[in-house]
Amino acid sequence: MRASDTVSRQGGDEFVLLVPDGAQAAAAAQLAEKILQALAAPHMILGHELYITCSIGISLCPFDGLDTEALLKNADTAMYQAKSAGRNNYQFFTPAMNTRAVERQAIESSLRHALLRGELELYYQPKVDLRSGRICGAEALMRWNHPEWGLLMPDRFIPIAEEFGLIVNMGRWVLLTACMQAQQWKSAGSAWVDVAVNVSTLEFCHPEFLANVREVLAQSGLPARHLQLEITESVLMRDAASCAETLRQLKLMGVTLALDDFGTGYSSLSYLNFLPIDVVKIDRSFVQSINGPQEGSMLAGAVIAMGQSLGKTIVAEGVELESELAYLQTMRCEAVQGFLFSHPLQAEQFSNLLKREQASMAAMNFSNWKV
Ligand code: C2E
Ligand code: MG
Ligand code: MG
Repeated sequence: MRASDTVSRQGGDEFVLLVPDGAQAAAAAQLAEKILQALAAPHMILGHELYITCSIGISLCPFDGLDTEALLKNADTAMYQAKSAGRNNYQFFTPAMNTRAVERQAIESSLRHALLRGELELYYQPKVDLRSGRICGAEALMRWNHPEWGLLMPDRFIPIAEEFGLIVNMGRWVLLTACMQAQQWKSAGSAWVDVAVNVSTLEFCHPEFLANVREVLAQSGLPARHLQLEITESVLMRDAASCAETLRQLKLMGVTLALDDFGTGYSSLSYLNFLPIDVVKIDRSFVQSINGPQEGSMLAGAVIAMGQSLGKTIVAEGVELESELAYLQTMRCEAVQGFLFSHPLQAEQFSNLLKREQASMAAMNFSNWKV
């Protein structure tokens, strides 16, 4: 920095740079590049080469604000944009960002009350066993019935819930609700429907997570083997050692573990070998590629074969077409989930589906008996 610049620590890991003559966008961009480059150098700590990155948001005076408050706020908004654009980059503030920031803020403050106000709801999407053709499980998917905005899908609010730590309480509610529901279907006379619950990284790494799973299983009375927890590769990347320990503990409890969105994350596969993961969920992007050019279906086949060779149960997600199903059958995929069979359903609709399935099975048995 130059003597005329000011660098100050704003708190946490945030720093503010005040640059006179910064109103020239080109100069500000050049400076941001310089900072990114300087910070990219490795740090040698206890023999390890460690790297840090930074995300920079830029606001220009007078265009983006005339006082400190407005300039800081807009730089902050731009910085969040830089973070969500993959970090290690810089962004200039634009008014469109502001609209998004306002929306995010509105969602965040409303989400704080959603749980208490009973606005969250679980939908259930059936998983179909390809050998028996029967429903073998249900994935619980969160929805938010907002009194003004209507039904919100998870991609609108889960990233915000994660960012503000709200996901921990929401996740606890999801787990309990889903386990109670599975228990209720069984009590109503259906065969067991294994219920799968998505667990976000923040929840998984929470010190209370294991105790919470234990408590929910005790409270709902659901046998642990009928609960499946879906985690993503990002969980595994966070802290491999403690994550492996948590997975082992869950396994000891008897819970089934699934790796969601398989193939989309970091390509380090060695962990799959030593972590106690039972199920691999092949991401929709691979299923979609089945009907693409030759290489596409080869890729899907390779991903499935890899999971199989590691001894995992393979579930394909996002199956929409008969042709995709046919391919998955030839690949000996164990179970499938997707719009071809059913969209995610409200609990009551799912109950009806189970009853219908049971009735049709009974009818089949009856006709067999007649013959
Ligand atoms: P996911 O766990 O990979 O869930 C599958 C998503 O694919 C669901 O989207 C589902 O509705 C959608 N899907 C299923 N079949 C098809 C299909 O044939 N075609 C298409 N186009 N889509 C299909 P949804 O419900 O919007 O959930 C999105 C993501 O939000 C989930 O991805 C999961 O990562 C997250 N999520 C949902 N509920 C929860 C929750 O309770 N807790 C946490 N932590 N995350 C959740
Ligand atoms: Mg999932
Ligand atoms: Mg998935």
